[in-house]
Amino acid sequence: MRLVVEEIREERSVSVPFDLNEPWARKAVAHGMDASPASLEGHLEVSRSGVNVRVTGALSASATVQCARCTVPVSITIEAPVDLAYVPVTVPEGGHPEEKQLEEDELDLGFYTDGALDLADVLSEAVALELPIQVVCEDTSSCEARTAALLAASAPDVGHPAFQALRSFSR
Ligand SMILES: [Zn+2]
Repeated sequence: MRLVVEEIREERSVSVPFDLNEPWARKAVAHGMDASPASLEGHLEVSRSGVNVRVTGALSASATVQCARCTVPVSITIEAPVDLAYVPVTVPEGGHPEEKQLEEDELDLGFYTDGALDLADVLSEAVALELPIQVVCEDTSSCEARTAALLAASAPDVGHPAFQALRSFSR
């Protein structure tokens, strides 16, 4: 889903709705969430000012992922506005692409190459920005109980290498 930046009219933004039926959007969100989305809905509004591109819109997606601690399935939902800015990567004559030094207020800036913005990348990024760093169960105490049980079950054979070393040492 590549948009050629020059073809975006400055006076009129491009509206791109998406849902689960759009393979590019489904794939992009699956990539961003690291799980296949169970639901997906939203739209992106792409506007241009010179070479600067701004993408706004809204995103709603849900997926089932594994709890980072006890590994049971946990469903997560993302509902967020999208507001991202992109500038072209500047390629010095005959050199490698170089990202310019960013000002503090430009930290959220993304880059596009070859004069086109890939909306799948935009969507993946918007999803990734909204994801918690670690997804764990809401019920902390039963999560801890399951985690403890998992550790106890796995300890004798496939424990931490340090424990295996310790075991062979004590033989
Ligand atoms: Zn858990």
